Amino acid sequence: MLRLTDLQLPLDHPDAAIQAAILHRLGISEKELIRYTIFKRSSDARKKSAISFIYTLDLELGNEAEVMQRFKNDRHVAPTPDTSYHFVTQAPARLASRPVVIGFGPCGIFAALILAQMGFRPIVLERGKVVRERTKDTWGLWRKRELQPESNVQFGEGGAGTFSDGKLYSQVKDPRHYSRKVLHEFVKADAPPEILYINKPHIGTFRLVKMVELMRATIEELGGEFRFESKVEQLDLEDGKVCGVTLANGEHLASDHVVLAIGHSARDTFQMLYDSGVYMEAKPFSIGFRIEHPQSLIDRARFGPNAGNTLLGAADYKLVHHCTNGRAVYSFCMCPGGTVVAATSEPNRVVTNGMSQYSRNERNANSGIVVGITPADFPGNHPLAGVEFQRQWESRAFELGGGTYDAPGQLVGDFLANRPSTELGEVQPSYKPGVHLCNLDTALPDYAITAIREALPAFEKQIKGFSMRDAVLTGVETRTSSPVRIKRKDDDLQSINTVGLYPAGEGAGYAGGIMSAAIDGIRVAEAVALSMTGGSGQA
Ligand code: FAD
Repeated sequence: MLRLTDLQLPLDHPDAAIQAAILHRLGISEKELIRYTIFKRSSDARKKSAISFIYTLDLELGNEAEVMQRFKNDRHVAPTPDTSYHFVTQAPARLASRPVVIGFGPCGIFAALILAQMGFRPIVLERGKVVRERTKDTWGLWRKRELQPESNVQFGEGGAGTFSDGKLYSQVKDPRHYSRKVLHEFVKADAPPEILYINKPHIGTFRLVKMVELMRATIEELGGEFRFESKVEQLDLEDGKVCGVTLANGEHLASDHVVLAIGHSARDTFQMLYDSGVYMEAKPFSIGFRIEHPQSLIDRARFGPNAGNTLLGAADYKLVHHCTNGRAVYSFCMCPGGTVVAATSEPNRVVTNGMSQYSRNERNANSGIVVGITPADFPGNHPLAGVEFQRQWESRAFELGGGTYDAPGQLVGDFLANRPSTELGEVQPSYKPGVHLCNLDTALPDYAITAIREALPAFEKQIKGFSMRDAVLTGVETRTSSPVRIKRKDDDLQSINTVGLYPAGEGAGYAGGIMSAAIDGIRVAEAVALSMTGGSGQA
């Protein structure tokens, strides 16, 4: 197989143009091209009036050796690298002990799946409900202002990313191509096959729900076992080693390999781990607001005359501004054609985030506009001081929103002028159950407000209309990543002071987003499998 990169075609090219371009580029005849597959497709929108697609293609040729020889000095023609996934080991027959995976978000899903595929029959413990029931509870907050603390946007089957835009890209280093494994498993679970090749794939909420169910079924078929509504309330330890876990109903499960994939919102579990002596430290994260604009404004700014072209879909953006007060403000979890969602897991607090459907065809574009903070900003030096900091601002948001789970909101024009908003303009905010207009001036620490006030006009220079008067800010965005790192060793991925405990994914501070959490789940599954079989080497 041969890989051809950087093949550029106009945006609206017919399918047949790809084959014609391959033949032309390589100077081969139709019968020499046995088949081609698209490995990657990205778009080049630098020239808005002439946006193009750029392809990376894998080719099966009748005359591969001859073509390779002819193009040996061409960096765009090379043998296709092996990106397939290889299991590090297999469970021996009659292995008595079973690994436990706590949490069934993207990290726990992939940890459990890979362990199951290697024959280790994991037991998955998830505090929330199965995804269909969880969906009803989640909508209960959005529609009826009723929060279920154990079943919501953060907790339940599928984890935090289930009600999301389902963006599947990540900037983590991936030398072993784990992201391909993740994408292939998602496609097996009914994700749209195009996620395998488009540059910034996304799935959208409804499809994610079905995929999560299918992946659970696969794990069960392979001998895995699930316990929902089973919160782990205690880690059972003996001489600094894990020997099992205790559930909220008092049941004890023995295991000396426990994957901790609990996400960034399991604050009670962080506390329990801290009380049990598991080493953790405070880590930086970001805080800010969600901003909503008309999607058409973003499309125009990004795609010019091609705005609205269905081949391009709804446009996204990525922005960063370094402020004079030393803070960095950046866009976070941008959701084209999506909605802002209520994402608290604790009563009497308000947290924003964003989601979309696969079609991304809602009226508004939304994104977090967040400011980087460090443990020096937290109240005190306790490892869980970041959690306290989050709670403080989430409670403040609840109060500013009127104490009804409405999000406090303000028009960008008013925010920049520091006057309360009293009336919405062109942009109707999408946050449910509702938005309470106010002055967001006291919704975040002063340095964050100052930084966002400086950044919005700076972003206007990159996206015309970004600081438009009627754009709406809602808050607060506090769950951008975990406030703690549950440190683990680099070689065997076990906690630095608790043998048999594998801190993983976003909650442990080793991932940020669906793809990186899933990749971390694979890495940890490999480490567990190697440890259980007495294998060596770095996972
Ligand atoms: P989580 O997904 O948080 O899963 C942790 C699981 O552990 C939860 O199901 C929880 O119930 C369970 N758990 C916690 N404590 C216990 C316990 N004591 N006992 C048993 N179970 C427990 N990322 C993207 O890449 N793209 C996006 O488009 C995107 N959109 C998002 C939209 C929203 C609304 C939200 C909230 C997040 C979004 N994210 C997105 C972030 C993404 O969801 C997370 O990065 C990812 O889910 C982290 O995966 P995880 O498996 O580490 O943790």
